[in-house]
Amino acid sequence: MAGNAISPEKGVRRKEAYVDQGTVLKFDKNNDFQQELKRRVDEYFESSGRHPRDNWQMYLKSAILLSSYAGLYVLLVFMATTWWQAVPLALALGTVMALIGFNIQHDAGHQAYSDRGWINKMMSMTIELIGGSAYVWHWRHAVFHHTYVNITDHDTDVDLGFLGRLTPHQKRYAFHRWQHFYLWPLYGFMAIKWQLVNDFWDVSRCKIADRRIPFPKGWDLVIFLGGKITFFTLAFVIPMLFHTWWVVLLYYGLAALAMGVILSIVFQLAHAVEEAEFPMPAPDTGRIESSWAVHQVQTTVNFARRNPVVSWLLGGLNFQIEHHLLPRICHVNYPALAPVVEQTCRDFGVEYHEHPTVWAGLRSHYRWLRQMGTEEGYA
Ligand SMILES: [Zn+2]
Repeated sequence: MAGNAISPEKGVRRKEAYVDQGTVLKFDKNNDFQQELKRRVDEYFESSGRHPRDNWQMYLKSAILLSSYAGLYVLLVFMATTWWQAVPLALALGTVMALIGFNIQHDAGHQAYSDRGWINKMMSMTIELIGGSAYVWHWRHAVFHHTYVNITDHDTDVDLGFLGRLTPHQKRYAFHRWQHFYLWPLYGFMAIKWQLVNDFWDVSRCKIADRRIPFPKGWDLVIFLGGKITFFTLAFVIPMLFHTWWVVLLYYGLAALAMGVILSIVFQLAHAVEEAEFPMPAPDTGRIESSWAVHQVQTTVNFARRNPVVSWLLGGLNFQIEHHLLPRICHVNYPALAPVVEQTCRDFGVEYHEHPTVWAGLRSHYRWLRQMGTEEGYA
């Protein structure tokens, strides 16, 4: 049942023509680590009787989060009458939107929610409810990020443009020396840019950063347009029927800022920290030194994995090593699988990095930003 759980994202090879435009990256071919891990993970599911997907905990969590989203929206738009009611409701709504992304959409988009394709498809569309696009997410996250983690100019997640320097191979500007201060609030504005600009820009150019993507066709285009109309109706049209336009924009901004800060920070703690590596392909062969699976571990850091509250809230994104190795296994299984992954890493001499708490991860991200923003941070 756990078959094909460990591999680069489905369809990546077929899509490589889009990915690198003539400079396709290859990983080392030795996949002993990957095969042994797959064997041990399959053995775990067989002996425990648990299932990699369609877990009841996931369905329950989805019901809790989606009903919280609906409830908070109704309270904010139709019931709140004062600012001290609306402010906490907007912040809570933004937080729940981030949690829907972490828990429901992220697993479904990786086909890790269910064995049934239509359930994954339907639940992956929850990203349209929070202002994103399942189509663009697939390319940005599942293809570019998951295949080429932390490889400069290939992983679009470590590309903040001129605003920040996250890898030692990016150009450093003088103002980056303050990025460990100014990037934190800017993370908040990234959700607003994402919801209002990025998806339209990426699809109209058929590019994410300088990576080519195909223009959405058929149902992908219908879902893209329908999703945008749904989100804009929920975020602006309906609220403006009941409130003044500037009040709507104010509380939209507040919810989006909360969502942006939470989304960005959780993803940064996994890859933009001191312990993560930022390998580059060999200039002569274009080959990455490690195999694909070893590369995932070298570029990824876990945090707070023994904290059940953090694990429930973040949809297993504090177990990013397990997620990157086992992207098609539902995150509710990660706490039980982590010792199997850690032991396999140890047996193959691959370092398994983790921060014990969220705070330790935040401090490491702060120090990494400071290091990358200063001269000494150069590779
Ligand atoms: Zn992912």
